[in-house]
Amino acid sequence: MAVDITTDLNVVRNIGIMAHIDAGKTTTTERILFYTGISYKIGEVHEGAATMDWMEQEQERGITITSAATTCWWKDHQINIIDTPGHVDFTVEVERSLRVLDGAVAVFDGVAGVEPQSQTVWRQANKYAVPRMCFVNKLDRTGADFYMVVDSIVDKLHATPLVLQLPIGAESDFLGVVDLIGMRALTWRGETAQGEDYVVEEIPADMADKAAEWREKLVETLAEADDDIMEVYLEEGDVFDVPTLKAAIRRATLADKLNPILTGTAFKNKGVQPLLDAIVDFLPSPIDVESIVGHDVKDEEVEVARKPSEEEPFSGLVFKIASDPHLGKLFYLRVYSGKVAAGATVVNPINGRKERIGKIYQMHANKREEIASVGAGQIVAVMGLKDTKTGHTLCDPTNPVVLESMTFPAPVIEVA
Ligand code: GDP
Repeated sequence: MAVDITTDLNVVRNIGIMAHIDAGKTTTTERILFYTGISYKIGEVHEGAATMDWMEQEQERGITITSAATTCWWKDHQINIIDTPGHVDFTVEVERSLRVLDGAVAVFDGVAGVEPQSQTVWRQANKYAVPRMCFVNKLDRTGADFYMVVDSIVDKLHATPLVLQLPIGAESDFLGVVDLIGMRALTWRGETAQGEDYVVEEIPADMADKAAEWREKLVETLAEADDDIMEVYLEEGDVFDVPTLKAAIRRATLADKLNPILTGTAFKNKGVQPLLDAIVDFLPSPIDVESIVGHDVKDEEVEVARKPSEEEPFSGLVFKIASDPHLGKLFYLRVYSGKVAAGATVVNPINGRKERIGKIYQMHANKREEIASVGAGQIVAVMGLKDTKTGHTLCDPTNPVVLESMTFPAPVIEVA
């Protein structure tokens, strides 16, 4: 039976995971689906057996992201992961996916640091001011150097990193991270490394000075970006509690002033749960993003803005069309404003054709869920469209708008 999905946009995160080929985008995404599969949905926490299923499935064939947009749940938040092509040849597709996501996680190889394709995608994300975090992956590899990668993020991406974690141990002895917000250690030892929760410990004594030094850097960097933090810091020093710091980090990240940096090894299941927490804590919800600005159907010069609210007229962008062996053509749609129900008639202002929305699906890693209607901020797959292509807008027939006005191909800027 078709169900209605959440309309509280505060708990929604539409994110992309971007990386140079081989940095670990697929592995990180799979691990995210693994951990979120354990705690599947509000009020529906699967225990024991479900965990086993996921682990068995994982061992058998890997949990693979096969969908252009996959929905998962983490601590009462709905995370929609939009697939971002990793290859520069798909510049147009990268740009299109950047349009429909609200925030991103850039994954880096802990040995190779910032590589050319990450530079390209990073610059494209700069163009749309997409709030971004970084995950320095593969800390278990021989030669992995977290601090080198942080430096290369500054040198090659000209980002302002906000280091939130420090690695504990290195290479095969990589144990976990120092959490500089909570000033504690999170470790994955022995059995827990197999995907269970981490252990919270005191910061190792031999890392106390380093942790204090990087905590100071964190607060100072944050103060530079946030006047409220600066004011308190100048008068009282570092008196910040965890919620205050988190709120300030969120503000600075949403304003695209800072890029929080976390670390771990997706492959060895270390660091993924804190990464999920950070996605929820620091990346935007659809209502943190300003209105989308499209243009009038008849006059490209006339701008039309749509707010991310179900009260507005319906508008959405078809960003990907995929062929499903069982269902046929699936049209991936980001809804920007209003609401639309299965069976509704909408208009495609690009060709002036009316389209009837067939079934609407929310896509999960291991199943799809039919839903009755979908509102602003959500990403779904719809069926039944006849004359709609990738990049086309669908909208309310009485209030049409054209959403996409990108010029292709976008320039690829090479960095020396
Ligand atoms: P993608 O091309 O960015 O999607 O990269 P993949 O996720 O496919 O990973 C590329 C290779 O690196 C695969 O062989 C992974 O098993 C491996 N890999 C991914 N994450 C890690 C990690 O944290 N540590 C190590 N040692 N290998 C990893």
